[in-house]
Amino acid sequence: MTTLADLVGQIGSGAVEVLDLTAPLSAATPILHLPEPFGNTISASLEPISDFDDDGPMWSWNNLHTGEHTGTHLDAPTHWITGRDGSSVDTIPPERLIGPAVVVDVVAEVEQNPDFLLEPEHLEAWQREHGPIPAGAWLILRTGWGARSRDAERFANADENGPHTPGPSVAAARWLAETSPITGFGVETVGIDAGSAAGFDPIFPAHYFLLGNDKYGLTQLQNVDKLPPRGAVLVVAPLPIVGGTGSPARVFALIERD
Ligand code: MN
Repeated sequence: MTTLADLVGQIGSGAVEVLDLTAPLSAATPILHLPEPFGNTISASLEPISDFDDDGPMWSWNNLHTGEHTGTHLDAPTHWITGRDGSSVDTIPPERLIGPAVVVDVVAEVEQNPDFLLEPEHLEAWQREHGPIPAGAWLILRTGWGARSRDAERFANADENGPHTPGPSVAAARWLAETSPITGFGVETVGIDAGSAAGFDPIFPAHYFLLGNDKYGLTQLQNVDKLPPRGAVLVVAPLPIVGGTGSPARVFALIERD
């Protein structure tokens, strides 16, 4: 058990930092808004059951109302038509939820163009600089979008033509799903596809290809700017909602500090 004893010792000493990548979950947490005629998710909210009152003089507790896909959350394969026969969130093998994190930084590109699309060339350039993407990795697209997350309007960044947010092209979505050895794809934005992806062929290609290839999505990550390009370990903890197509998730990164 030396490995685990070392790990907890180094967490205790600060040599391994535990960084929380999760957005706070409240009624103010931004959510996806699909246009008519599609249905939409609800925001998260708390419904008091008792609060040290007649309904519970010594205790406070709440009912939690939330969508599966509210706030920082995991997309399971069954969320998409291509993965409908795959894993729901409760049947994902837990060992797949912990893996190496690699971070592809496109902050400068997104500052120039909020509709920036990640292409396979960017991923190949990352590998030339940092080495091969490790098996079982969580690949995180760093866009700087997390800085907008306290302002729902700036976070959505929508106009009459729809949302303007970055994400992968069709080719990059296929590359990640079919060529790379990743387990999941994480973003700072409200969903794993670009804001313009409703007009792609296929529509929403990150969902289409990743979830159809037994890979997972991870959204609305924060503190991504504090992650190294490689070397951190991601711990992703969605609730085992039986039959769930996704779940709000707590996401931690373990980072070695020297
Ligand atoms: Mn989702």
